[in-house]
This record gives sequence, C-alpha cells and structure tokens, in this order.
Amino acid sequence: MNTHTHYEVIGVGFGPSNIALAITLEEEAPGTRCLFLEKAACSQWQAGLLLANSDVQNHPLRDLATPRNPRSHYSFTNYLFEKNRLFEHLNMGLYYPYRYEYRDYIKWAAEHFDSSVEYSTAVTDVVLLSGNNGSMLFQITTDTGKVLTCNNLVMATGRTPFIPTVLNAVAPHSLVHGAAFNSIIERIETGEVRSVAVVGGSQSAIEIMLYLTSTFPKVTVHGVSRKFGYRLKDSSPFTGEVYFPSFVDVFYDSKAQHKQRLKDDLNLTNYSASDADVLDELYRTLYRDKHFGHNKLSVHNCVDIVSAVMIDSTVSLELMTAHSDEAITSVEVDLVVSATGFRDMGPLEHQEMCPPLLNTLYAHMDKNELGEMQVGRDYRLALVDCNNAGLYLNGLCESTHGMGDAGSLSLVSIRAKQIVESIQRLRAQAVSIAPCLKEEA
Ligand SMILES: Cc1cc2nc3c(=O)[nH]c(=O)nc-3n(C[C@H](O)[C@H](O)[C@H](O)COP(=O)(O)OP(=O)(O)OC[C@H]3O[C@@H](n4cnc5c(N)ncnc54)[C@H](O)[C@@H]3O)c2cc1C
Repeated sequence: MNTHTHYEVIGVGFGPSNIALAITLEEEAPGTRCLFLEKAACSQWQAGLLLANSDVQNHPLRDLATPRNPRSHYSFTNYLFEKNRLFEHLNMGLYYPYRYEYRDYIKWAAEHFDSSVEYSTAVTDVVLLSGNNGSMLFQITTDTGKVLTCNNLVMATGRTPFIPTVLNAVAPHSLVHGAAFNSIIERIETGEVRSVAVVGGSQSAIEIMLYLTSTFPKVTVHGVSRKFGYRLKDSSPFTGEVYFPSFVDVFYDSKAQHKQRLKDDLNLTNYSASDADVLDELYRTLYRDKHFGHNKLSVHNCVDIVSAVMIDSTVSLELMTAHSDEAITSVEVDLVVSATGFRDMGPLEHQEMCPPLLNTLYAHMDKNELGEMQVGRDYRLALVDCNNAGLYLNGLCESTHGMGDAGSLSLVSIRAKQIVESIQRLRAQAVSIAPCLKEEA
C-alpha cells in the first residue's frame, strides 16, 4: 500500500515500456521514490490480441533488460532459468518464442515490482502546478479518487488505436479494433457473430483471419486490404538495423523530409506486412477453401472501402477496386475487425497531436509551426517556462525517434536507461521541491 502523495517519478501505464523503466530504476538509480499506475487489474501484455501459437516479432534477447544489462535478473534467459525451462526452450529451436510465453515473461518481471504498482487504477487527468520556489510539478488524478504529485511523469500508455474514418458509420457493437479482438471471441463462440470482415494487411490481420478460419470453420471471413496482395515483411538483416540503438540517433537528427523518406523506405519492416509462415498458411487455407467449395474465406485485395452502412444489425461495406472507377462490390458482415494500426504523434489524419491524457497540458508545450510537440532525444517533452519538471513519452515517439520506438519491444531497455539518465540530470539540477502548490492549468 503506497501512502505517499508525492513521488520523484510516476509512471502512467505498466506495460513493457514502464516495466523496463522500473527495472532500470532499481538497477541504476536505487532508492528513487517511484510509483506506477496501471488501469488493468494485472500485467497482461497485449491481452486484447494474444492468439494461440502466434510468436513474438522481436528477438527474445532484445527483452526488458538484456540490451542494457546482459547480467540483469530480469532477462528472458533468467526467466527461463527460474522457470526451469531453459534447456527445453533452447531444444525447441524456435527463433521467436511463443507470444503466450513472452507474455508470461513480462508478467513475471512485472510481479517483482508489485509494491510500486497500483493496478486497477487509471489516470484520468494530468495538470502542471507551480510551487512557491519556482519549481514545477505534475498533479495526477486517478479514477480511484487519488491525487498525487511528482517531479517526473513518464507516460507509457501505449498508442491510440487507429480506425479509418470511413468506418465511423459502423455501430460500435459491430466494430472492434484488432488489438481488442479477444473481447469479441465469446460472441463468435455463441453464434451471435457468423461473418467477419478483417480490414488491413498487417501481421495481426493475417493472424486473426487464420485464427477465425481454423477455430470457427462455420464463420465466413472476408479479408479487405488496399494493397495488391498481402505483403511479406522486410526481414533483411540490412533493414533490420533500423532496430539498432544507433539508428535512433540517425533518425532523430534527420530533417522532416529525410525522416519521411526513411519511413517510406522502412515501413515494411513492421507495418502492412507479415511473416512468410502466416502468409503461406493463409494462401493454403484459401486454396483448400476453394477446392472443397466451402466459400468461408475470401480475400478482397487492392480495394478501397468507399462507404460503410448499417442495415439493421448487418454492416455493408462498399468496395471499389484501385484499378477501376466502376467496379464496386459489397460485403455484408456481422462484425468488422479494423486491424489498421495505431496513431503516431503528428498532425496527419492517422496521427494525433498529443496523447489524449495530456490534452490539458498541450497549451504548456513548446511546439513548432505545425503544432507538433518538441520531444528531446531523451524522450522529454519541452514545456514552456518549465525546466525542472520532466515529462517523458516512453514508447510513443515513433514520429521523432523512428521505427524501433512505439511498434517494437526491441529498444525498451535502452530507452528506459536514457530516460533514467535524463531524470538523474534533472535531479542534479534541482532545487528542493516544496509541496506547497497552487494550480496552474
Ligand atoms: C497486438 C500487438 C502485438 C504486438 N506484438 C509485438 C511483438 O511481437 N514484438 C514487439 O516487439 N512488439 C510488439 N508489439 C508492439 C508493442 O507496442 C510493444 O510490444 C509493447 O507492448 C509496447 O509497450 P508499452 O508499455 O509502450 O505499451 P502497452 O503494451 O500498450 O502498455 C500500455 C499500458 O498502459 C496502460 N494504460 C493506458 N492508459 C492508461 C491510463 N490512463 N492509466 C493507467 N494505465 C494506462 C494499459 O492498460 C497498458 O497496460 C505489439 C503490439 C500489439 C498491439
């Protein structure tokens, strides 16, 4: 039970990014008074989409600690050792571990910090306060009625799911984002949902289609994608260097137009593309489905969804092919799964100007002419007239720090170290902070 109301560090969210931060604080800044607030009831990495037998998309040693400290207690290797599975695991010869096992590893690591985490606690508001000695603090309000303050706030809430505006007309009951797919499985099991359209060309989209066709052979599945065909992930070891810590410097230091070129070039390492094993499996499933005349799986590639309308409880998607203005088909389903990714920071349609929880603080942020927040290399947001309070984005900086940031676990440990070092620099500069405050925002 945490009885303090003021902390040096408060972390919002306790997924991999802030678990890695907790580990780094323990190993490199012991004694730091910190608290983590997590809205879920326990650690559950990507609970909304954890399909049986799917594997993780990063090398297992690029875990919560190893790249920063290969001798850490919290490495994946030590997890296997402590669980008495090291030899069996190595003997399996898997390059990527199963996701359920990696989820268990993340939970195992998280449980070491139970005394510093409040689960079932969502942060609902963040404001900036000024003390009577010129210092600034963050005041955090939770849905459990707590009001806390801190010198450093580390936001690791994960990205906001992106759903294309053309799907706005779909009733909420008939639409789910891919990351929350597990929430509708019961409705499929009970027979309430008998047909599903899976929109998008990501690994998640393919995995959802495979799961549906193999687990629920009576359900009709439509894959809908804008690309000519589902694409292979770029897994060249040369492009894989995008997940090197040194690439973060290259990307961060690039001008906006060069960043865009790099993004376009590197997109297929993580987005709108899948690993060969699941693509091959989907192709074979489609082939078998046609051969046996089941007609339960169809793929609509190279199409735009031009409208979505509800006809009673059925969703009708109108599709137009990219190579003809006239060819329109429609697909009628009980449910649409939008496996269409997440919002990055920025002004474009599929982006957002700041994490929704920081909307109140947006007015205090230093911004460029496009209204974009200014994020330091140390993941710290620049605040106007506020040099001594640290507001950090942990796992939300793909726009500024590149592909290895939001969409991947591979750099969480290194990023956590850079945030902790920044907090230590602020601590060294700090004048004593008196908890005598007046509200500023
Ligand atoms: C389905 C899926 C599969 C993925 N698979 C891989 C993979 O195989 N390999 C890989 O490298 N990356 C993968 N990723 C990328 C993923 O972003 C990272 O793996 C990792 O989850 C990022 O960790 P995080 O802590 O930044 O965010 P998250 O894991 O999203 O955690 C954010 C946490 O913040 C909590 N939270 C949110 N809002 C609040 C609030 N207001 N108050 C309190 N708590 C809050 C949430 O409950 C959640 O626990 C996957 C992502 C998804 C969506």
